Amino acid sequence: CGIVGYVGHRQALDVVMGGLRRLEYRGYDSTGVGVVDGDHIAWDKKAGKLANLDAALATRPLPESTTGIGHTRWATHGGPTDANAHPHLDSSERVAVVHNGIIENFMVLRDELEDAGYEFASETDTEVVAHLLHRELQQTDDLPEAVRAVCRRLKGAFTLVFADAQNPGVVVGARRNSPLVVGRGDGENFLGSDVAAFIDYTAEAIELGQDQVVTITADSIEVTDFHGNPAPTTEYTVDWDV
Ligand code: GLU
Repeated sequence: CGIVGYVGHRQALDVVMGGLRRLEYRGYDSTGVGVVDGDHIAWDKKAGKLANLDAALATRPLPESTTGIGHTRWATHGGPTDANAHPHLDSSERVAVVHNGIIENFMVLRDELEDAGYEFASETDTEVVAHLLHRELQQTDDLPEAVRAVCRRLKGAFTLVFADAQNPGVVVGARRNSPLVVGRGDGENFLGSDVAAFIDYTAEAIELGQDQVVTITADSIEVTDFHGNPAPTTEYTVDWDV
């Protein structure tokens, strides 16, 4: 439902939680966040309102990090439980993904991954994406390349945003039939399902086109199609009084 991604110089958790709060108006049933912490992703997720996640994080804080992702979920596959909330991770907790939309071929992919030994922790259509990415990263260390390979296997509608503990300082997003917007900052960059995700920090936005992958670091933004070719984008300034 709502997605935020951040790389920069601030505490990612603060930026992501602020973005999720801005996205609350869209409605949701669960929330979650993940930040890069050394060789793994530190995360928390909760059914219910953002206040539930706030309370959990107050009891068990996440480590400081400048790379993070977050999600407000509107369940389509699997009930609104803690386990079904996003982010979804591979079992080594190297990669984390948040997703808006529906992966239509998730049953086929889930069977294929279970046959290959992957164990699932949720009932969502989304979780296949985390395990697919983990599998691709056994072939290449290039995170955007691995994300593109995953996207080429997916059918349906998706905005996806990924963090990888082996690629700290990088967040990758992808979209098909579902919106994804980039916020251009100064020494920091943002991803959002809409501009509300980052409007407190920047009004410089880039609208992604259909079937595109975007890779952000603190000081770079690269957009390609699902095959790695550079892709055209539209830059604009958001007209919004905050
Ligand atoms: N289909 C996914 C799920 O049920 C994503 C739902 C959403 O767009 O929030 O977890």
